[in-house]
Amino acid sequence: MGPLLELDGVVKTFTQKRGGKRDVQAVAGVSLSVGKGETVGLVGESGCGKSTLARLALKLVDPTAGRILFDGADVTPLGSRQMLPVRRRLQAVFQDPLASLNSRMTIAEVMREPFDTHGIKLGQGLTPRIRELLSFVGLENIDLEKLPPQFSGGQLQRIAIARALALEPEIIVADEPTSALDPSIQAQIVNLMLFIQRKRGISYLIISHDLDVIGHVADRIAVMYLGTIIEQGPAAEIMARPLHPYTQALLSAAPTLAARRERGWKRIMLSGDPPNPANVPSGCRFHPRCHLARDVCRETVPPLRMVSGGNRLVACHLAPEETAATGAEIGLGRRGVAAA
Ligand code: SF4
Repeated sequence: MGPLLELDGVVKTFTQKRGGKRDVQAVAGVSLSVGKGETVGLVGESGCGKSTLARLALKLVDPTAGRILFDGADVTPLGSRQMLPVRRRLQAVFQDPLASLNSRMTIAEVMREPFDTHGIKLGQGLTPRIRELLSFVGLENIDLEKLPPQFSGGQLQRIAIARALALEPEIIVADEPTSALDPSIQAQIVNLMLFIQRKRGISYLIISHDLDVIGHVADRIAVMYLGTIIEQGPAAEIMARPLHPYTQALLSAAPTLAARRERGWKRIMLSGDPPNPANVPSGCRFHPRCHLARDVCRETVPPLRMVSGGNRLVACHLAPEETAATGAEIGLGRRGVAAA
């Protein structure tokens, strides 16, 4: 069975006008797929291109190069009208539910919109269907005539999820679905998304800066840095033994993993400037911030290569072929995490 959603060598270049016109590559040749019923987590810092990648996956922007495939069909050249049948199967949830829902529309109107857009007439059945969707996400008996600003952030994200489920999609692309919410609400939304997957078997592409959230929900993780994927593999393996120094730094900073640090893990402090697509370093894009960098890293781009019998991909000159190799081979400290 092929993937449901596939990005094949996708590039997105924007023209930056500030400080003299020049092209900036936000996404620099990313290949990523999401299988049926699978959750793929894409993680990286702000400015790494992950939100642009989400918009590309949703065909909200067109790629400069590369292809986007949905259920095996190349949808890259399709216009918005031709994309309608695909959109029914491919839905989105965004970071800020108040911004993503029209604040002048009542909840009834917000929930009705996807049915109208796709010409689905439910007549008398519309309100019961809306109630059913809202109840499914834990919102029983809410006032459908209220406006979005009259709800809390957590309630609004539930409404946004119910709206995304209205057309019974096969995949949801969720861009930072929890990061605008209070920590206690974040866990509720993550658990709701997991509950929906168990009940409906849908796929997710979840984009987040928070490796801890991604590690909790994903089957597979892709780590993005300055427009490229630098590590990819099964979530359990990446969380247990990250191979790329950048993934190691992200994991060492994950707050709820403090207990692991107490048992010998050390926080790796990232030095240097955060990623800036207008200023891409030579060789390995991560080298100015990498404590393991050496001459080859400054001169030669490390290819994204298969390790661990093809199970994992990593773009680092120093990563071992086999994950069973000891951390000492690439200068790593105890349990595979480099010492600060
Ligand atoms: Fe660090 Fe070099 Fe690996 Fe890049 S290639 S992550 S600079 S060790």
